[in-house]
Amino acid sequence: MFFDIQTLEKQKIRFDQVFAPGSIDFLDADLRQAGDLRASGVAELVDPFGAREIRVRGDLRGAMEVVCARCLEPIHVPVVCSIDLFYRPMARIAREEEVALDEAECEVGFYQGGGVELADVVREQVTIELPMRSLCREDCRGICPACGKNRNREACDCRESFPDPRWEALRDWKN
Ligand SMILES: [Zn+2]
Ligand SMILES: [Zn+2]
Repeated sequence: MFFDIQTLEKQKIRFDQVFAPGSIDFLDADLRQAGDLRASGVAELVDPFGAREIRVRGDLRGAMEVVCARCLEPIHVPVVCSIDLFYRPMARIAREEEVALDEAECEVGFYQGGGVELADVVREQVTIELPMRSLCREDCRGICPACGKNRNREACDCRESFPDPRWEALRDWKN
């Protein structure tokens, strides 16, 4: 669904759309939809004759699948959040380069051409919502750097990569 500027000049656009897994490209091989994502809400022009910012508000619910940062196993992450994103016209920014984009504005996106695509809004909201680094569990043991086994499932006999100096000393003494 596309929120085009011409329509938004006249009226708000309400939306309620279900995205099946695979219908949005998340631009990240480790990020997949685990089920439908449903986005509902309203898009409007904040300042139709001035900044022409598009504001998209609503709710997003569904589930994603990410990989554990340590063991690389898939993790199911429910996504239930509200959406409140702003999009500024790209051309306007180019003209006003002196406009300082401080960190408070980091959730302001930009649009090019005639408007904003709902799929892009959903992708952005999901990216904001998911943690930078997910673990399958707090004490995930990860993958052994030597043999590649998942240490949550299988113990391995590989030497620790950072040997305890006390044991090293003991071994020297025994030899
Ligand atoms: Zn893990
Ligand atoms: Zn190992």
